[in-house]
Amino acid sequence: MHLPILLLACYELGHQPLSLAWPQAVLREAGVAVVSADLSVVALPRETAVSAPFVGIAVPMHTALRLGVQVARRVRRLNPSAHICFYGMYAWLNRDYLLDGLADSVIAGEYERPLLDLVQDVLAGGQGTAVSGITTAASQNPPNLERLNLPTPDRSGLPALNQYARYEADGDMVLAGYVEASRGCLHTCQHCPVVPVYNGRFFIIPHETVMADIRQQAAAGAKHITFGDPDFLNGPGHALKITQALHAEFPQLTFDFTTKVEHILKHRDLFPTFKEYGATFVISAFEATNETILARLNKGHTVAEMETAVAILKEAGLAVQPTWMPFTPWTSLEDYLNLLAWIRTQDLIPNVPIVQLCIRMLVPPESALLNHPDVLAWRGPLSAENFTYQWQHPDPCMDELQQQVAALAESAGNNHYANFAAVEKAAYRLMDAPMPHWLPPTIYEPPPPRLTEDWFC
Ligand code: SF4
Repeated sequence: MHLPILLLACYELGHQPLSLAWPQAVLREAGVAVVSADLSVVALPRETAVSAPFVGIAVPMHTALRLGVQVARRVRRLNPSAHICFYGMYAWLNRDYLLDGLADSVIAGEYERPLLDLVQDVLAGGQGTAVSGITTAASQNPPNLERLNLPTPDRSGLPALNQYARYEADGDMVLAGYVEASRGCLHTCQHCPVVPVYNGRFFIIPHETVMADIRQQAAAGAKHITFGDPDFLNGPGHALKITQALHAEFPQLTFDFTTKVEHILKHRDLFPTFKEYGATFVISAFEATNETILARLNKGHTVAEMETAVAILKEAGLAVQPTWMPFTPWTSLEDYLNLLAWIRTQDLIPNVPIVQLCIRMLVPPESALLNHPDVLAWRGPLSAENFTYQWQHPDPCMDELQQQVAALAESAGNNHYANFAAVEKAAYRLMDAPMPHWLPPTIYEPPPPRLTEDWFC
């Protein structure tokens, strides 16, 4: 028997990491001894880190990668001979940086099977260079896009659900679970990190696997489930069947999901049914209120369609949580004020956490944004250690505003209305324009349903 391998997650939006639960299910099924740790909740298991022949670090998002790189350096100091592998979307995008002395390998796409093959190769004394789906300094392989037969995620040994973000509704907070019913995405929004990895493909997770994962989290106390698919309505029939089964088995369980504006309009008839099955809110990446920017990002929707989407959800009794990318090289100060005014007039102030108002466009290596003919007009040098190309706004006021709103977000309290007013004040001051005399916003008490983790990147 070999010494246990170590899998580490650093940050997954405040939920129990599927990026540990799925690979450890695949690895354990094959007889591999695994210790895993979510470092957003627990300390690095030092003893295992010192002895593990293989250390996998999950990097499904930018923040996870920033933290993961620090962890890899620490593991390398503790255990110089360990094979360190980064897996997940951001591993692929930043492979040149990672493979330059920090990682031994990277894997992306449907990574569980290549990860198992790699671990078995390393345990047998190999370096993974001949393993399909693995990229090392010596061998390039694209993300694995072969459908996997995934088992039910193995959540044993992970921190309990009470260590993670709660679902808050009607003044109550309850435990929340997290599942995925599909991976990848059919769409090609230019700024989205899913696109360079999945290239318009998506993979359905079998109904029974998703239900088994819901069941085990309900048994662990979850009263709400987040469907964390990049877009839940890439497979609307699948989504409907799963939520129907969820409701039939757990009539008290509520859920949320993410879907794009285009899908809200296209599948508008489904939303009353989702509500009946227990949906309480829907996350949708609105991004901007400037038509040119929406087109530039290939979002597939207009501002008028965003308004229709808000109306469809409202009519169905569902809250919307729009997400935004307010700072791009193309967003003017006037656009920013229009965005704030739009949120206000759509009565969405309590639906937009302040952190959403300071998001600055990231341009990781491989981003589809880099393929646009206008790229030379705005792209600066690659800041590999920050995992993004640099860009500067032509109007220095916008960078200043972004920093001011980020500082406000850092020190913000829980009052969305006060937070929003502070952002408005900063923006109008920079514009050197008087604040319009808005009618007071409707105060929603309790606030719309949400998860107690606002960050999403
Ligand atoms: S629909 Fe969402 S997940 Fe799909 S490419 Fe666009 S932003 Fe990414």
